[in-house]
Amino acid sequence: MYDVVIIGAGPHALSLLSRMLINTPDKYEERPDNKSLFFKNKSGVYKTKVKDNPQTRNTPRQLSTYLRKGGVIDENVLNNICVIDRHGGWMTQWSKQFDALGISHLRSTSSIHPDAFDLHTLVQFAEDHRREGELLEIDGGIRGSKFTGPFIVPSLGLFWDFCKSVVKRHKLEDFVTKGFVTRLLPKDGGYDVCLASGDVIVAKQVVVATGNIGVKRIPGWARDVYDGCVDGSLLHTWDIINNSDATGIHTSDVCKQMVKLNMRNPINNTGNTVVIVGGGLSSAHLVVKAAMSGADQIHLVCRSSIKVRQFDLELEWIGRSRFIKLADFYSMKSFEKRSHVVRSSRGGGSITPYVHQQLVKLQESGRLIIHEDTEVWECNKDENHWSIQLSNGHMVDCYIIWLATGSIVDVTMNPLFCDVIKELPINIIDDLPVLTDDLEWGCGSGLYVMGALGGLVLGPDALNLAGARGGASRIAHRLKC
Ligand SMILES: Cc1cc2nc3c(=O)[nH]c(=O)nc-3n(C[C@H](O)[C@H](O)[C@H](O)COP(=O)(O)OP(=O)(O)OC[C@H]3O[C@@H](n4cnc5c(N)ncnc54)[C@H](O)[C@@H]3O)c2cc1C
Repeated sequence: MYDVVIIGAGPHALSLLSRMLINTPDKYEERPDNKSLFFKNKSGVYKTKVKDNPQTRNTPRQLSTYLRKGGVIDENVLNNICVIDRHGGWMTQWSKQFDALGISHLRSTSSIHPDAFDLHTLVQFAEDHRREGELLEIDGGIRGSKFTGPFIVPSLGLFWDFCKSVVKRHKLEDFVTKGFVTRLLPKDGGYDVCLASGDVIVAKQVVVATGNIGVKRIPGWARDVYDGCVDGSLLHTWDIINNSDATGIHTSDVCKQMVKLNMRNPINNTGNTVVIVGGGLSSAHLVVKAAMSGADQIHLVCRSSIKVRQFDLELEWIGRSRFIKLADFYSMKSFEKRSHVVRSSRGGGSITPYVHQQLVKLQESGRLIIHEDTEVWECNKDENHWSIQLSNGHMVDCYIIWLATGSIVDVTMNPLFCDVIKELPINIIDDLPVLTDDLEWGCGSGLYVMGALGGLVLGPDALNLAGARGGASRIAHRLKC
């Protein structure tokens, strides 16, 4: 029996282990009971004590020493923890999603990463390895009075190498057990963690850090045709992320996909036309990916108008005003209100200024047509090409449709919680569980939840790397090993 089983080996799980293993206190731990950040007034309203953007606590020399030598790791703690991931390694799913969509830089800033030692370790890592060129300073045009920047985002390669160094510093190489967890059965004093292989791992405490489990949001008009389409000509983003074939060819490679579909000599004048549906960053990355991999003509169909912003939530949630927003959020007793904040602050999909510039260039070259405030009315497959009727009057013929329509976050749709919901019922508001302040599934259950499902406790960026940091700090101090 393990003291702790962590399901998932993404950045959230890594942040949690780092927080558990690093013994230095973090002034910026985002928890209502963190007295260096927040205080509660007599009326029970939280206020923040901090007026600046988060600062580093260490000198560059201390940071470099830590990066070289690591901290003191309590190996006894590690012996009592098991991390299970279906890919059998750290952050495999994470890198697959960036790779498949051809993303060059993270959206979040360089202070947000899984290493609990200090906010500044990623920047110091870049400096120590002479890779400062991979820290991209984003145009100041997005500055607001609430966050003046600097807006520095790391390249994918830099972030990935840094995360590998986090794994090494914390002695977590070869730590992940390969396995797909199908059920989580509560039992006296713990849980049976059931794997698809038939094996059962017994744990006193469990942390679910499975990220976005890929429940695809398929628009109504596509539901029938999507289920029946097996030739790869109608795909959701998650299919593209998960379906690189044995040769490593991603399904987002339009030319190779056309060859696969036997459509080298297109008839009906449709050429290598691709229709992409969705208005968020994934849809924009897919447009660029389609253009780079041979699409002659791309139609981007968005339900609303394109929103251009660096972060996937309102600017007030980033930088120094973040703590004011968090204090307001913690003060809300109504979980319905919190749910409203979580959804409204994200406000649907948006595209970074950097990727938007690439779309503008493609539009100017005539290869991209953006249909804003437009819905798909009808979609039919005729022989081997699709005909799509749009609400703006356009009719588009194409061979490939990609749905970048996002995922559904709903605890009741996650098979891991099926038995838990029955045996340990808690409130569920707008599909999100009402967890305790420490992200526990009801007091004393020993089951903790990270990621988007912690939204009612952590706030709108529960699913992001910032949420990983906040979630880790709440759970780490509760786990007993
Ligand atoms: C394209 C894209 C770009 C993004 N960019 C950013 C960004 O720049 N900054 C940011 O803050 N956020 C970003 N995000 C948000 C993103 O969700 C987080 O960065 C991060 O990937 C979430 O980490 P996680 O650990 O929760 O999930 P994941 O990275 O998905 O890791 C979860 C792991 O759990 C495993 N797993 C799932 N179910 C099971 C099971 N039943 N059994 C065993 N293993 C299982 C999976 O294999 C996976 O490895 C981005 C998201 C996407 C899709």
